[in-house]
Amino acid sequence: MKNIVILGSTGSIGVSVLKIIRARPDCFKVVGLVTKSNLKTLAKQIEEFCPSIVSVANKEKAKELRSLITRKVKIVFGEEGSMELASCDNADMVVSAIVGAAGLSPTLAAIRAGKTVALANKEALVAAGDLMMREARANNVKVIPIDSEHSAIYQIMRGETKKSVRRIILTASGGPFLKTPKDELQHVTVKRALRHPNWNMGKKITIDSSTMMNKGLEVIEARWLFNILPSMIDVVIHPQSAIHSMVEFYDSSMMAQMGPADMRSPIAFALNYPKRLKVDLPRLDFTQINSFTFEAPDFEKYPSLQLAYDALEKGGGAPVALNAANEVAVEAFLKGKISFITIPIITEKVLGKLGIVKVDSVSTAISIDKWARVKAREQVL
Ligand code: MG
Repeated sequence: MKNIVILGSTGSIGVSVLKIIRARPDCFKVVGLVTKSNLKTLAKQIEEFCPSIVSVANKEKAKELRSLITRKVKIVFGEEGSMELASCDNADMVVSAIVGAAGLSPTLAAIRAGKTVALANKEALVAAGDLMMREARANNVKVIPIDSEHSAIYQIMRGETKKSVRRIILTASGGPFLKTPKDELQHVTVKRALRHPNWNMGKKITIDSSTMMNKGLEVIEARWLFNILPSMIDVVIHPQSAIHSMVEFYDSSMMAQMGPADMRSPIAFALNYPKRLKVDLPRLDFTQINSFTFEAPDFEKYPSLQLAYDALEKGGGAPVALNAANEVAVEAFLKGKISFITIPIITEKVLGKLGIVKVDSVSTAISIDKWARVKAREQVL
């Protein structure tokens, strides 16, 4: 029996994690849930999974939650609250699924407390990947990716050594605009951008998929997670989303991991690591897929992908600023304040203003993050 804390339990990943736990109550027990403000869903989760402690955004939300539930549960709040849960004594594993930079501090708290981390929050690695993975190595903590591409690589690398890797190939679906000509992108609506062809995910990540910033962030994520040079990470568009990523070895042998485009598959792998979990999920049917196709990404059509490689090359605080500026720009797009093609323009402008800053602590990462948000908001107005 594994005791699990979920940071971000009401989001898309958190809900999928709970689906797996619901299917295998013999393997997992929920001990803590963190959510910001979706109290109605959290209240239902508390009634069903009986955690001993939960955390919400602030004192008011904590009070409101109390009135919504009948069960006895300790309610804490704020960043201290989520950090308390991330490091709580009876947790074996912490699922880090808070979207955005807000996941950074609690994820690091989990690592420092020696908890195995199942990581869905890619922004934490983007903002402070070097720091986070160094801490993980120092504390002998496993960080098991939930992101499907990184889960694929993690699965492929079992029994292999890093030295024998020639390159990592991250697959990308190409998003909803793969067939849309570049000139039409300026007229894209929020509704269209949210219509992902293969994956059912949260709003922020779905927009990131449509700009390919999601893949850019994943390149940065892979760089730190697998401690591999950016020049060894390639991206290929594979619209069927059946191959979740590939690794090429020095003998030119290539391994691909395949599965359904369903986040519950990498979640099940992470939750039950190192053993595979027997669980009923959709399966791949090659007779239905018919063909696998691949193409090179168009860096001019998707400038966000290039920006991510550039930020990685610039190093230091650049990936933090990239991520923060992008978050602000995506939010502005979702609210109808800016056009689709303005998203990477804002990000690029903010990156251009950043000097060379070393990220040697979470507080530095957070201050660059805040700075980039201010600069990005100036661009939105
Ligand atoms: Mg992914």
